[in-house]
Amino acid sequence: MAASGIPVLNYHAIDDTDNINSSHNVSVSLAAFKEQINWLHKEGYKTVTNEELNDLLFHKKKTPGKHVLITFDDGYFSLHKHALGILSDYGYTATLFLSTSFIGNSYNQNDFEFVKHDRQLTWSEIRELSSNGWTIQSHGYTHTRMTHLDIPSITKEVTLSKNIIEQNLSKPVDSFAFPYGIYNKAVIDQLKIAGYSSAYTVHSGKLYPSVKRFQIPRIEINNTDNIDSYKIKVLTGYTSATNGIRAKIRDIAFANPSVKDLIEKWAHRMGYGNR
Ligand SMILES: [Zn+2]
Repeated sequence: MAASGIPVLNYHAIDDTDNINSSHNVSVSLAAFKEQINWLHKEGYKTVTNEELNDLLFHKKKTPGKHVLITFDDGYFSLHKHALGILSDYGYTATLFLSTSFIGNSYNQNDFEFVKHDRQLTWSEIRELSSNGWTIQSHGYTHTRMTHLDIPSITKEVTLSKNIIEQNLSKPVDSFAFPYGIYNKAVIDQLKIAGYSSAYTVHSGKLYPSVKRFQIPRIEINNTDNIDSYKIKVLTGYTSATNGIRAKIRDIAFANPSVKDLIEKWAHRMGYGNR
């Protein structure tokens, strides 16, 4: 693996309307997405699956070249409509972290800010992504803040979503992305018990072999990014130098999930937010 680390990019939806500024912050415009993927290709990046990422990171396989893992959270139709074709043109694939309770349902969850111009993927569309080399992994069952749940409810979130995807696609699910990026030790413990081997956060930074398997960083790409901020994010793993320093301090403090839980409890009492 390259000494410069591997960026894992976190997307949600692609907005093909003319009105990206009024769009949900987590969407990127169709034009921006095309420009970003084209730049990755020009720079010589190859996409990896999360399984290949594990090989590169933990089995010390030496694969020359630049690697990137492209991930999408939630499961929006715009991935099938736009991302599949754009990525396929470059021989690229992606990983979709899917919240399974919404599939086939309309948007009615108050807790979950659905991207308005979009809709949820259907199983037949998800199967098509899968047959085109995309990896489908779990983003929980109801897309809830899991640190608010008791243990049986956490277990339900992580096992039900895993089982439903495995039954529908006949492929193993062993990676998880925390809804809202929120997690604690109890959530990680239940993921391990349920048979997961890795989990993805929204902490920024690139991946190195020292990464914690259940706290893998991802770089969020959203509608505030222009091509220059995008390049900085991909190349450094951070939005800015200050962000980089803060993130490094946090990585040291959060390396032990029990310590992370304590710090967050303290921060909450002191009036700091949880994210
Ligand atoms: Zn999500």
